[in-house]
Amino acid sequence: MTQTLTSDVLVIGGGLVGAALAYGMAAAGATVRILDGGDGDIRAARANFGLIWVQSKGHDMPAYARWTRQSADLWGEFAVELGAMTGVSLHHRQMGGLSYCLSDKQLDDKRAEIARLHNQRAPWSPDVTVLDRKELSGLLPGVKLGPAVRGASFCPQDGECNPLALLSSLQQALAAQGASIHRNAKAHSVAVVAGRFRVATEQGAFEAPRFVLAAGLGSKPLAESLGIAAPIRPQRGQILVTERLPDFLPFTGDTLRQTAEGTVMVGATHEDAGLDLSTTADASAELARHAVAVFPDLARVNLIRTWAGLRVLTPDGNPLYAESVDHPGAVMVTCHSGVTLAAAHARLLAPAILDGPLGRDFAPFSAARFA
Ligand SMILES: Cc1cc2nc3c(=O)[nH]c(=O)nc-3n(C[C@H](O)[C@H](O)[C@H](O)COP(=O)(O)OP(=O)(O)OC[C@H]3O[C@@H](n4cnc5c(N)ncnc54)[C@H](O)[C@@H]3O)c2cc1C
Repeated sequence: MTQTLTSDVLVIGGGLVGAALAYGMAAAGATVRILDGGDGDIRAARANFGLIWVQSKGHDMPAYARWTRQSADLWGEFAVELGAMTGVSLHHRQMGGLSYCLSDKQLDDKRAEIARLHNQRAPWSPDVTVLDRKELSGLLPGVKLGPAVRGASFCPQDGECNPLALLSSLQQALAAQGASIHRNAKAHSVAVVAGRFRVATEQGAFEAPRFVLAAGLGSKPLAESLGIAAPIRPQRGQILVTERLPDFLPFTGDTLRQTAEGTVMVGATHEDAGLDLSTTADASAELARHAVAVFPDLARVNLIRTWAGLRVLTPDGNPLYAESVDHPGAVMVTCHSGVTLAAAHARLLAPAILDGPLGRDFAPFSAARFA
């Protein structure tokens, strides 16, 4: 009979959400085991745009706007700490972000959206300003803008990182802290025995008094077996990447950003395509048209790669931090901004889960809002 492996916490899923939470819990002194799936799994953590994006988050949920801002503010220290521990540069930069408007209507809508945000007058509200075409040109001297560009919104709190470096660095830091990552250890089922969570995998059984479900789109069956409602669905996002170019774009952006290596990322689409990870010529054409409409000189540049990823979306698009009522100690964590929230997940949510139950600060993110 194989031995049951035990720990203080079991984290199911080693994507950006699971890895950041596990890192935070290991840093707080807990023994942590991560059970992760295999290479064929759907992984948003390996397919995203790499933004730490603040300006448009939480317009319909002030708690999410505040949480996003807290995370962006923690990101600098978080990146330095991970870099010092692992030697991996996350290419973290908080240089401000642009959201381009390609018609007068888009610019007017943006102005109205920002006015609503400013009316909330919360201390954590992002400092978003709307720039007309002339002001935008002033921010990007020497850069040719397409004739359709009417302006952009700008927020100095927006930033970016290399998301693959983030995942790799978190995994290395976890190993350095003594946490165990079990790959190809898909959790098939979870049973609760005397208040402890017992998980069956092909690699044997694992047991712990705390159970954190962060398996992205794979979370649903395990959540439901613990009485946690998991109203999540996939949304496909396709991304294009160009060859490396000399630096020309000093700001990040929600549809166009130049990486630290010089490539330009263009993205991402928002498509209901079920679990289909295919890329399509239509989406590539739409993204390329947008890129050239903003920066016409990109028409002469080679595209080198395209890929698709699946976002994990809740009905309102905001994070879901759902505790099991029937089985205290089990919590499901999911969001579609796992890069942006990585610092808050590691520094703030992880210790709160260990202390459990999640307090008032996290109530807006509970499943109760969907009841
Ligand atoms: C196109 C696109 C662009 C994005 N852009 C951004 C962005 O710019 N900024 C931002 O903040 N966020 C962005 N995101 C979202 C971000 O990528 C996700 O929030 C984040 O990656 C979610 O990570 P996750 O750990 O929840 O899920 P995933 O990365 O999907 O990981 C889930 C993990 O769980 C494992 N798993 C599944 N089932 C089981 C099981 N039964 N047992 C054990 N393991 C299991 C899988 O193997 C996988 O490793 C984007 C996403 C997409 C798709």
